[in-house]
Amino acid sequence: MTQLTRYKRNFEENGITQIAQEKLLNSRVLIMGAGGLGSGVIMNLAALGVGQIKIIDGDIVEESNLNRQIIHKYKNIGRAKVISAKDWVQEFNPDIRVELDKIKINELNYFNIIQNYDIIVDCFDSYESKYMLNEIALRHKKALVHGATQGFYGQVTTIIPDKTGCLECVIQKPKEIKETILASLSPVVNTIAALQAQEVLKIITGIGMPLLNKLLIYDGTISEFKTLNYTKNATCVACSKNDTF
Ligand SMILES: [Zn+2]
Repeated sequence: MTQLTRYKRNFEENGITQIAQEKLLNSRVLIMGAGGLGSGVIMNLAALGVGQIKIIDGDIVEESNLNRQIIHKYKNIGRAKVISAKDWVQEFNPDIRVELDKIKINELNYFNIIQNYDIIVDCFDSYESKYMLNEIALRHKKALVHGATQGFYGQVTTIIPDKTGCLECVIQKPKEIKETILASLSPVVNTIAALQAQEVLKIITGIGMPLLNKLLIYDGTISEFKTLNYTKNATCVACSKNDTF
């Protein structure tokens, strides 16, 4: 069993059993965005042995991405990020099945992309896309692992439809979203990405406690984490619109 040799340090000392490894190998995870957060999430899921990943991104690799988007190599500037990311995964762990779509998702084109995946990782860099993905995940009952960064700060939470609050419950959607270009630092982005991958690991294996109704907030300036507890907001437009009760 070459595969289990590769992953034996996943389960020898830190509590992940062989059964849990098989769950990882049999799982499918959808990664929305192959930028900074996407790079770290893809690398960590490929290392853990998540059997199938699907990477969605409509952009090409630009030189200014390379300060933090560490899956993309210099030689891939000008290529689609999804192709560049798939190349990395195939070189690192050829056992992982990679699907990809070079597309910017919207309300009209997302359905075929999400339908075979139960866990979605939000690696988008715009809040407009994050709120749209929150609504899509609620509507189709998909687990959503949210992550975001700004300069030295970052945050992570896991949203399970009908069980936890949603992104809009914890961060109210403004009437108008102003997208500005924010500083994006590799150590911070990759810290948050690693925590998102850890959430996926916990959801799939059932080991530990995912960040349910908890927003983990990271302040890199002082290297501290804080947890903000939240609950489903009865007046939340996104949750109530998609309620099944
Ligand atoms: Zn909500």
